[in-house]
Amino acid sequence: MNNADLIRRDLDVLWHPCTQMKDHETNPPVPIKRGKGVWLEDYDGREFIDAVSSWWVNLFGHANPRINARIREQMEQLEHVILAGFSHEPVVELSERLVDLAPEGLTRAFYADNGSSAIEVALKMSFHYWLNRGQSQKTRFVALTGSYHGETLGALSVGHVPLYRETYGPLLLEAIHAPSPDCYHREPGEDCAEYAERQFAEMERILAENADEVCAVVVEPLVQCVGGMRMHDPVYLERLREACDRYGIHLIADEIAVGFGRTGTMFACEQAGITPDFMCLSKGLTAGYLPLAATLTTEEVYCAFYDDFNNLTAFLHSHSFTGNPLGCAAALATLDIFAEDEVIESNRRKAEVMGEAMAPLNDHPKVAEVRQTGMILAAEMSPDPANRTAYPWQERRGLHVYRHGLENRALLRPLGNVVYLMPPYVISEEEIHHLARVATEGIDIATRD
Ligand SMILES: *Cc1c(COP(=O)(O)O)cnc(C)c1O
Repeated sequence: MNNADLIRRDLDVLWHPCTQMKDHETNPPVPIKRGKGVWLEDYDGREFIDAVSSWWVNLFGHANPRINARIREQMEQLEHVILAGFSHEPVVELSERLVDLAPEGLTRAFYADNGSSAIEVALKMSFHYWLNRGQSQKTRFVALTGSYHGETLGALSVGHVPLYRETYGPLLLEAIHAPSPDCYHREPGEDCAEYAERQFAEMERILAENADEVCAVVVEPLVQCVGGMRMHDPVYLERLREACDRYGIHLIADEIAVGFGRTGTMFACEQAGITPDFMCLSKGLTAGYLPLAATLTTEEVYCAFYDDFNNLTAFLHSHSFTGNPLGCAAALATLDIFAEDEVIESNRRKAEVMGEAMAPLNDHPKVAEVRQTGMILAAEMSPDPANRTAYPWQERRGLHVYRHGLENRALLRPLGNVVYLMPPYVISEEEIHHLARVATEGIDIATRD
Protein backbone atom coordinates (compact mmCIF):
# COMPACT_ATOMS: atom_id res chain seq x y z
CA MET A 1 0.00 0.00 0.00
CA ASN A 2 1.28 3.48 -0.86
CA ASN A 3 -0.22 6.97 -0.60
CA ALA A 4 -1.50 7.06 -4.18
CA ASP A 5 -3.39 3.76 -3.90
CA LEU A 6 -5.08 4.72 -0.69
CA ILE A 7 -5.94 8.23 -1.86
CA ARG A 8 -7.61 6.81 -4.97
CA ARG A 9 -9.70 4.38 -2.92
CA ASP A 10 -10.50 7.08 -0.36
CA LEU A 11 -11.78 9.55 -2.94
CA ASP A 12 -14.05 6.87 -4.41
CA VAL A 13 -16.01 6.27 -1.22
CA LEU A 14 -15.34 8.86 1.48
CA TRP A 15 -16.83 12.23 2.34
CA HIS A 16 -14.42 14.05 4.67
CA PRO A 17 -15.48 16.31 7.54
CA CYS A 18 -15.28 20.08 7.25
CA THR A 19 -14.02 19.76 3.67
CA GLN A 20 -14.98 20.98 0.20
CA MET A 21 -14.28 17.65 -1.43
CA LYS A 22 -13.35 19.32 -4.75
CA ASP A 23 -10.29 20.76 -2.98
CA HIS A 24 -8.89 17.23 -2.96
CA GLU A 25 -8.34 17.47 -6.72
CA THR A 26 -5.38 19.73 -5.89
CA ASN A 27 -4.71 18.86 -2.22
CA PRO A 28 -5.29 15.14 -1.77
CA PRO A 29 -5.92 13.82 1.74
CA VAL A 30 -2.83 12.51 3.53
CA PRO A 31 -3.22 8.85 4.47
CA ILE A 32 -1.57 8.10 7.79
CA LYS A 33 -0.16 4.66 8.39
CA ARG A 34 0.95 5.04 11.97
CA GLY A 35 1.66 7.46 14.76
CA LYS A 36 4.25 7.53 17.50
CA GLY A 37 4.55 10.32 20.03
CA VAL A 38 4.09 13.65 18.24
CA TRP A 39 4.92 12.06 14.88
CA LEU A 40 2.56 10.84 12.16
CA GLU A 41 3.85 8.74 9.27
CA ASP A 42 2.19 8.34 5.87
CA TYR A 43 2.28 5.35 3.49
CA ASP A 44 5.23 6.77 1.55
CA GLY A 45 7.29 7.09 4.71
CA ARG A 46 6.95 10.87 5.10
CA GLU A 47 6.68 12.10 8.69
CA PHE A 48 4.87 15.06 10.24
CA ILE A 49 4.81 16.58 13.73
CA ASP A 50 1.18 16.73 14.76
CA ALA A 51 1.17 20.44 15.74
CA VAL A 52 -2.63 20.48 16.03
CA SER A 53 -2.90 17.40 18.26
CA SER A 54 -5.17 15.79 15.64
CA TRP A 55 -7.85 18.49 16.07
CA TRP A 56 -6.87 19.31 19.66
CA VAL A 57 -7.61 15.91 21.12
CA ASN A 58 -4.20 14.32 21.59
CA LEU A 59 -2.35 15.07 24.83
CA PHE A 60 0.33 12.43 25.30
CA GLY A 61 1.29 11.41 21.80
CA HIS A 62 0.07 8.76 19.42
CA ALA A 63 0.33 5.10 20.42
CA ASN A 64 1.12 6.00 24.02
CA PRO A 65 2.17 2.73 25.69
CA ARG A 66 0.50 3.53 29.04
CA ILE A 67 -2.87 4.36 27.49
CA ASN A 68 -2.62 1.42 25.09
CA ALA A 69 -2.04 -0.96 27.98
CA ARG A 70 -5.00 0.36 29.97
CA ILE A 71 -7.38 0.06 27.03
CA ARG A 72 -6.11 -3.44 26.21
CA GLU A 73 -6.68 -4.52 29.79
CA GLN A 74 -10.21 -3.07 29.81
CA MET A 75 -11.01 -4.69 26.46
CA GLU A 76 -10.36 -8.14 27.94
CA GLN A 77 -12.83 -7.36 30.76
CA LEU A 78 -15.71 -5.44 29.26
CA GLU A 79 -15.91 -3.45 26.03
CA HIS A 80 -19.33 -1.92 26.57
CA VAL A 81 -22.51 -2.22 28.56
CA ILE A 82 -25.73 -0.22 28.75
CA LEU A 83 -25.40 2.53 31.37
CA ALA A 84 -29.14 2.87 32.08
CA GLY A 85 -29.80 0.60 35.04
CA PHE A 86 -26.24 -0.77 34.88
CA SER A 87 -22.84 0.46 35.94
CA HIS A 88 -19.16 -0.46 35.79
CA GLU A 89 -15.95 0.32 37.64
CA PRO A 90 -14.26 2.54 35.02
CA VAL A 91 -17.23 4.93 34.85
CA VAL A 92 -17.57 5.10 38.63
CA GLU A 93 -13.87 5.71 39.16
CA LEU A 94 -13.71 8.27 36.36
CA SER A 95 -16.68 10.17 37.81
CA GLU A 96 -15.09 10.21 41.27
CA ARG A 97 -11.84 11.55 39.85
CA LEU A 98 -13.45 14.18 37.63
CA VAL A 99 -15.51 15.47 40.55
CA ASP A 100 -12.30 15.59 42.60
CA LEU A 101 -10.39 17.53 39.93
CA ALA A 102 -13.13 19.89 38.79
CA PRO A 103 -13.84 23.25 40.40
CA GLU A 104 -15.44 22.87 43.85
CA GLY A 105 -19.18 22.26 43.67
CA LEU A 106 -19.35 20.19 40.49
CA THR A 107 -20.46 16.87 41.95
CA ARG A 108 -22.24 14.95 39.18
CA ALA A 109 -21.03 13.53 35.87
CA PHE A 110 -23.33 12.79 32.91
CA TYR A 111 -21.75 11.14 29.87
CA ALA A 112 -22.04 11.46 26.10
CA ASP A 113 -19.68 10.48 23.30
CA ASN A 114 -18.65 13.76 21.65
CA GLY A 115 -18.30 17.42 22.51
CA SER A 116 -21.38 18.66 20.65
CA SER A 117 -23.50 16.17 22.55
CA ALA A 118 -22.03 17.34 25.86
CA ILE A 119 -23.21 20.84 24.94
CA GLU A 120 -26.66 19.55 23.98
CA VAL A 121 -26.82 17.85 27.38
CA ALA A 122 -25.94 21.09 29.19
CA LEU A 123 -28.48 23.15 27.19
CA LYS A 124 -31.27 20.64 27.74
CA MET A 125 -30.43 20.14 31.43
CA SER A 126 -30.40 23.88 32.06
CA PHE A 127 -33.74 24.42 30.32
CA HIS A 128 -35.20 21.38 32.07
CA TYR A 129 -33.91 22.53 35.47
CA TRP A 130 -35.84 25.79 35.15
CA LEU A 131 -38.91 23.91 33.91
CA ASN A 132 -38.79 21.57 36.90
CA ARG A 133 -38.48 24.63 39.12
CA GLY A 134 -41.65 26.09 37.58
CA GLN A 135 -39.92 28.65 35.37
CA SER A 136 -41.19 27.52 31.97
CA GLN A 137 -40.68 30.99 30.47
CA LYS A 138 -36.91 30.41 30.52
CA THR A 139 -36.18 29.14 27.02
CA ARG A 140 -33.27 31.17 25.68
CA PHE A 141 -29.48 31.01 25.71
CA VAL A 142 -26.82 33.70 25.62
CA ALA A 143 -23.43 33.09 23.98
CA LEU A 144 -20.51 35.17 22.75
CA THR A 145 -19.74 36.37 19.26
CA GLY A 146 -16.92 34.34 17.73
CA SER A 147 -17.80 31.32 19.84
CA TYR A 148 -17.94 27.68 18.76
CA HIS A 149 -19.72 24.91 20.60
CA GLY A 150 -20.07 22.13 18.03
CA GLU A 151 -22.05 21.23 14.94
CA THR A 152 -25.29 19.59 16.06
CA LEU A 153 -28.25 21.94 15.76
CA GLY A 154 -28.46 23.05 19.40
CA ALA A 155 -24.70 23.51 19.71
CA LEU A 156 -24.61 25.29 16.35
CA SER A 157 -27.37 27.63 17.55
CA VAL A 158 -25.32 28.96 20.43
CA GLY A 159 -22.12 29.08 18.36
CA HIS A 160 -21.30 32.16 16.33
CA VAL A 161 -18.79 31.31 13.60
CA PRO A 162 -20.65 32.43 10.44
CA LEU A 163 -18.89 29.91 8.18
CA TYR A 164 -20.45 26.98 10.02
CA ARG A 165 -23.67 28.61 11.08
CA GLU A 166 -25.17 30.80 8.38
CA THR A 167 -26.20 28.05 5.96
CA TYR A 168 -28.31 26.39 8.62
CA GLY A 169 -29.76 29.60 10.05
CA PRO A 170 -33.39 28.67 9.33
CA LEU A 171 -33.01 25.48 11.40
CA LEU A 172 -31.49 27.03 14.50
CA LEU A 173 -32.72 28.19 17.89
CA GLU A 174 -32.60 31.92 18.35
CA ALA A 175 -29.71 32.57 20.70
CA ILE A 176 -28.66 35.98 21.97
CA HIS A 177 -25.05 36.84 21.17
CA ALA A 178 -23.12 39.23 23.37
CA PRO A 179 -19.89 40.85 22.12
CA SER A 180 -16.83 38.76 22.86
CA PRO A 181 -14.11 39.98 25.26
CA ASP A 182 -11.62 38.80 22.58
CA CYS A 183 -8.57 40.91 23.41
CA TYR A 184 -7.45 41.18 19.77
CA HIS A 185 -9.92 44.04 19.40
CA ARG A 186 -8.74 46.14 22.33
CA GLU A 187 -7.90 49.79 21.69
CA PRO A 188 -4.26 50.91 21.60
CA GLY A 189 -3.11 51.47 25.17
CA GLU A 190 -5.88 49.32 26.62
CA ASP A 191 -5.00 46.03 28.33
CA CYS A 192 -6.94 42.78 28.10
CA ALA A 193 -8.51 43.13 31.54
CA GLU A 194 -9.74 46.66 30.82
CA TYR A 195 -11.12 45.54 27.48
CA ALA A 196 -12.86 42.54 29.06
CA GLU A 197 -14.49 44.81 31.65
CA ARG A 198 -15.62 47.18 28.91
CA GLN A 199 -17.07 44.35 26.83
CA PHE A 200 -18.82 42.97 29.87
CA ALA A 201 -21.05 46.05 30.09
CA GLU A 202 -23.07 44.82 27.09
CA MET A 203 -23.36 41.31 28.57
CA GLU A 204 -24.62 42.87 31.80
CA ARG A 205 -27.23 44.84 29.82
CA ILE A 206 -28.38 41.73 27.92
CA LEU A 207 -28.70 39.71 31.12
CA ALA A 208 -30.58 42.51 32.90
CA GLU A 209 -33.00 42.87 30.01
CA ASN A 210 -33.60 39.16 29.39
CA ALA A 211 -33.05 37.53 32.78
CA ASP A 212 -36.60 36.29 32.86
CA GLU A 213 -36.24 34.28 29.66
CA VAL A 214 -32.62 33.20 29.79
CA CYS A 215 -31.70 29.69 30.97
CA ALA A 216 -27.94 29.96 30.68
CA VAL A 217 -24.92 31.73 29.29
CA VAL A 218 -22.47 29.46 27.48
CA VAL A 219 -18.80 30.41 27.04
CA GLU A 220 -15.45 28.95 26.05
CA PRO A 221 -13.34 30.08 29.01
CA LEU A 222 -10.12 32.01 28.15
CA VAL A 223 -9.69 30.90 24.51
CA GLN A 224 -12.23 30.91 21.68
CA CYS A 225 -10.44 28.23 19.72
CA VAL A 226 -12.33 27.69 16.44
CA GLY A 227 -13.00 31.45 16.35
CA GLY A 228 -9.26 31.92 15.74
CA MET A 229 -7.54 31.18 19.06
CA ARG A 230 -8.88 34.49 20.35
CA MET A 231 -8.04 35.02 24.01
CA HIS A 232 -9.57 37.00 26.86
CA ASP A 233 -8.78 38.00 30.40
CA PRO A 234 -10.15 35.80 33.23
CA VAL A 235 -11.80 38.85 34.82
CA TYR A 236 -14.58 38.47 32.25
CA LEU A 237 -15.44 35.06 33.70
CA GLU A 238 -15.44 36.44 37.25
CA ARG A 239 -17.87 39.19 36.24
CA LEU A 240 -20.02 36.71 34.36
CA ARG A 241 -20.22 34.28 37.27
CA GLU A 242 -21.25 37.07 39.61
CA ALA A 243 -23.88 38.42 37.19
CA CYS A 244 -25.33 34.95 36.45
CA ASP A 245 -25.79 34.43 40.19
CA ARG A 246 -27.38 37.84 40.58
CA TYR A 247 -29.88 37.28 37.74
CA GLY A 248 -30.64 33.60 38.36
CA ILE A 249 -29.02 32.30 35.17
CA HIS A 250 -26.83 29.24 34.70
CA LEU A 251 -23.26 29.44 33.49
CA ILE A 252 -22.11 26.72 31.08
CA ALA A 253 -18.33 26.44 30.65
CA ASP A 254 -17.41 24.73 27.40
CA GLU A 255 -13.98 23.32 28.32
CA ILE A 256 -14.08 20.80 25.47
CA ALA A 257 -11.00 22.32 23.82
CA VAL A 258 -9.39 24.26 26.69
CA GLY A 259 -9.76 21.64 29.43
CA PHE A 260 -7.05 19.20 30.51
CA GLY A 261 -4.17 21.59 30.76
CA ARG A 262 -4.31 23.47 27.46
CA THR A 263 -4.46 26.90 29.08
CA GLY A 264 -1.80 26.17 31.71
CA THR A 265 -4.18 24.97 34.44
CA MET A 266 -6.13 21.72 34.48
CA PHE A 267 -9.31 23.65 33.65
CA ALA A 268 -9.47 27.20 32.32
CA CYS A 269 -12.14 28.17 34.90
CA GLU A 270 -9.52 27.79 37.64
CA GLN A 271 -7.77 30.93 36.42
CA ALA A 272 -10.90 32.94 37.21
CA GLY A 273 -11.53 31.03 40.44
CA ILE A 274 -15.09 30.22 39.38
CA THR A 275 -17.34 27.18 39.40
CA PRO A 276 -19.74 27.02 36.45
CA ASP A 277 -23.13 25.31 36.79
CA PHE A 278 -22.19 23.02 33.92
CA MET A 279 -18.75 22.11 32.64
CA CYS A 280 -18.51 20.28 29.29
CA LEU A 281 -15.50 18.05 28.64
CA SER A 282 -14.41 15.93 25.69
CA LYS A 283 -11.39 15.98 23.31
CA GLY A 284 -8.47 15.65 25.80
CA LEU A 285 -10.64 13.69 28.22
CA THR A 286 -9.32 10.46 26.68
CA ALA A 287 -6.03 12.08 25.53
CA GLY A 288 -7.42 11.82 22.02
CA TYR A 289 -7.91 8.07 22.07
CA LEU A 290 -11.63 7.45 22.04
CA PRO A 291 -14.83 9.47 21.70
CA LEU A 292 -16.07 10.29 25.19
CA ALA A 293 -17.62 13.40 26.71
CA ALA A 294 -18.83 14.44 30.13
CA THR A 295 -21.10 17.21 31.35
CA LEU A 296 -20.41 17.93 35.00
CA THR A 297 -22.97 19.74 37.10
CA THR A 298 -23.91 20.67 40.65
CA GLU A 299 -25.98 18.96 43.32
CA GLU A 300 -28.42 21.88 43.03
CA VAL A 301 -29.14 21.00 39.38
CA TYR A 302 -29.18 17.26 40.06
CA CYS A 303 -31.72 17.62 42.87
CA ALA A 304 -34.20 19.48 40.65
CA PHE A 305 -34.63 16.25 38.67
CA TYR A 306 -34.71 13.87 41.65
CA ASP A 307 -38.31 12.92 42.41
CA ASP A 308 -40.89 10.13 42.19
CA PHE A 309 -41.04 8.66 38.70
CA ASN A 310 -44.68 9.64 38.15
CA ASN A 311 -43.86 13.33 38.52
CA LEU A 312 -41.94 13.02 35.23
CA THR A 313 -39.04 15.26 36.16
CA ALA A 314 -36.24 12.87 35.09
CA PHE A 315 -33.63 13.74 32.48
CA LEU A 316 -34.59 11.25 29.78
CA HIS A 317 -31.59 11.82 27.54
CA SER A 318 -29.23 9.09 26.38
CA HIS A 319 -26.69 8.04 23.78
CA SER A 320 -26.00 4.44 22.89
CA PHE A 321 -22.36 4.70 23.95
CA THR A 322 -22.94 6.73 27.12
CA GLY A 323 -20.02 6.09 29.51
CA ASN A 324 -18.31 3.53 27.27
CA PRO A 325 -15.88 1.48 29.42
CA LEU A 326 -13.02 1.62 26.89
CA GLY A 327 -13.32 5.40 26.73
CA CYS A 328 -13.43 5.59 30.52
CA ALA A 329 -10.33 3.40 30.76
CA ALA A 330 -8.49 5.72 28.36
CA ALA A 331 -9.61 8.70 30.46
CA LEU A 332 -8.38 7.03 33.66
CA ALA A 333 -4.99 6.35 32.06
CA THR A 334 -4.94 10.01 31.01
CA LEU A 335 -5.59 11.24 34.55
CA ASP A 336 -2.89 8.87 35.86
CA ILE A 337 -0.36 10.42 33.48
CA PHE A 338 -1.34 13.93 34.62
CA ALA A 339 -0.71 12.94 38.23
CA GLU A 340 2.40 10.76 37.82
CA ASP A 341 4.24 13.04 35.41
CA GLU A 342 3.21 16.35 36.99
CA VAL A 343 2.13 17.42 33.54
CA ILE A 344 0.76 20.87 34.42
CA GLU A 345 4.10 21.80 36.01
CA SER A 346 6.31 20.43 33.25
CA ASN A 347 4.15 22.12 30.60
CA ARG A 348 5.13 25.49 32.06
CA ARG A 349 8.63 25.12 30.67
CA LYS A 350 7.30 23.88 27.32
CA ALA A 351 4.93 26.83 27.06
CA GLU A 352 7.90 29.15 27.69
CA VAL A 353 9.86 27.47 24.92
CA MET A 354 6.89 27.84 22.56
CA GLY A 355 6.70 31.55 23.42
CA GLU A 356 10.43 32.07 22.91
CA ALA A 357 10.49 30.14 19.64
CA MET A 358 7.61 32.14 18.15
CA ALA A 359 8.55 35.55 19.65
CA PRO A 360 10.46 36.73 16.55
CA LEU A 361 7.11 36.79 14.71
CA ASN A 362 6.21 39.82 16.82
CA ASP A 363 8.45 41.82 14.49
CA HIS A 364 7.11 40.26 11.29
CA PRO A 365 5.71 42.94 8.95
CA LYS A 366 2.57 40.88 8.28
CA VAL A 367 1.82 39.57 11.74
CA ALA A 368 -0.57 41.66 13.84
CA GLU A 369 -0.26 39.67 17.06
CA VAL A 370 1.42 36.69 18.64
CA ARG A 371 -0.69 35.56 21.59
CA GLN A 372 -0.43 32.69 24.03
CA THR A 373 -2.40 31.09 26.82
CA GLY A 374 -0.53 28.11 28.26
CA MET A 375 0.04 25.48 25.58
CA ILE A 376 -1.94 27.37 22.92
CA LEU A 377 0.04 29.82 20.83
CA ALA A 378 -1.27 31.75 17.82
CA ALA A 379 0.11 34.24 15.30
CA GLU A 380 -2.39 36.32 13.35
CA MET A 381 -1.45 37.30 9.77
CA SER A 382 -2.66 40.70 8.61
CA PRO A 383 -1.98 42.87 5.53
CA ASP A 384 -1.89 45.92 7.81
CA PRO A 385 -0.89 44.90 11.33
CA ALA A 386 -1.14 48.45 12.71
CA ASN A 387 -4.86 48.44 11.93
CA ARG A 388 -5.37 44.71 12.47
CA THR A 389 -7.13 44.27 9.14
CA ALA A 390 -7.79 40.73 7.88
CA TYR A 391 -6.76 39.15 4.61
CA PRO A 392 -10.01 38.37 2.72
CA TRP A 393 -10.95 34.75 3.43
CA GLN A 394 -11.17 34.06 -0.30
CA GLU A 395 -7.38 34.40 -0.51
CA ARG A 396 -6.93 31.37 1.74
CA ARG A 397 -3.55 32.52 3.01
CA GLY A 398 -3.48 29.80 5.62
CA LEU A 399 -3.45 27.13 2.93
CA HIS A 400 0.10 28.20 1.98
CA VAL A 401 1.19 27.57 5.55
CA TYR A 402 -0.55 24.19 5.53
CA ARG A 403 1.18 23.14 2.30
CA HIS A 404 4.56 24.40 3.44
CA GLY A 405 4.10 22.42 6.64
CA LEU A 406 3.38 19.17 4.81
CA GLU A 407 6.53 19.65 2.72
CA ASN A 408 8.54 20.20 5.90
CA ARG A 409 7.47 17.51 8.34
CA ALA A 410 4.80 19.53 10.12
CA LEU A 411 1.03 19.26 10.31
CA LEU A 412 -0.01 22.91 10.74
CA ARG A 413 -3.63 23.70 10.00
CA PRO A 414 -4.27 27.45 10.23
CA LEU A 415 -7.72 28.81 11.07
CA GLY A 416 -8.14 31.41 8.33
CA ASN A 417 -5.36 33.95 8.94
CA VAL A 418 -4.39 32.46 12.29
CA VAL A 419 -1.40 30.10 12.42
CA TYR A 420 -1.25 28.26 15.71
CA LEU A 421 0.59 25.62 17.68
CA MET A 422 -1.40 23.37 20.00
CA PRO A 423 0.84 20.31 20.17
CA PRO A 424 0.67 17.16 22.28
CA TYR A 425 2.37 17.73 25.64
CA VAL A 426 5.05 15.12 24.89
CA ILE A 427 6.65 17.41 22.32
CA SER A 428 10.38 18.10 22.84
CA GLU A 429 12.07 21.50 22.80
CA GLU A 430 13.77 20.61 19.55
CA GLU A 431 10.46 19.68 17.97
CA ILE A 432 8.92 22.97 19.14
CA HIS A 433 11.77 24.85 17.45
CA HIS A 434 11.21 22.86 14.28
CA LEU A 435 7.51 23.82 14.27
CA ALA A 436 8.33 27.48 14.94
CA ARG A 437 10.78 27.50 12.03
CA VAL A 438 8.30 25.92 9.61
CA ALA A 439 5.43 28.14 10.80
CA THR A 440 7.57 31.26 10.34
CA GLU A 441 8.66 30.25 6.83
CA GLY A 442 5.04 29.38 6.03
CA ILE A 443 3.92 32.84 7.15
CA ASP A 444 6.67 34.42 5.02
CA ILE A 445 5.40 32.54 1.97
CA ALA A 446 1.70 33.10 2.70
CA THR A 447 2.10 36.88 3.10
CA ARG A 448 4.60 37.50 0.31
CA ASP A 449 2.38 39.61 -2.00
C1 LIG B 1 -14.53 20.66 19.32
C2 LIG B 1 -15.40 21.51 20.14
C3 LIG B 1 -16.74 21.19 20.37
C4 LIG B 1 -17.43 20.03 19.69
O1 LIG B 1 -16.88 18.80 20.00
P1 LIG B 1 -17.11 17.58 18.97
O2 LIG B 1 -16.56 16.40 19.68
O3 LIG B 1 -16.34 17.93 17.73
O4 LIG B 1 -18.56 17.49 18.70
C5 LIG B 1 -17.46 22.01 21.21
N1 LIG B 1 -16.91 23.07 21.80
C6 LIG B 1 -15.63 23.41 21.61
C7 LIG B 1 -15.07 24.59 22.33
C8 LIG B 1 -14.83 22.66 20.75
O5 LIG B 1 -13.57 23.03 20.51
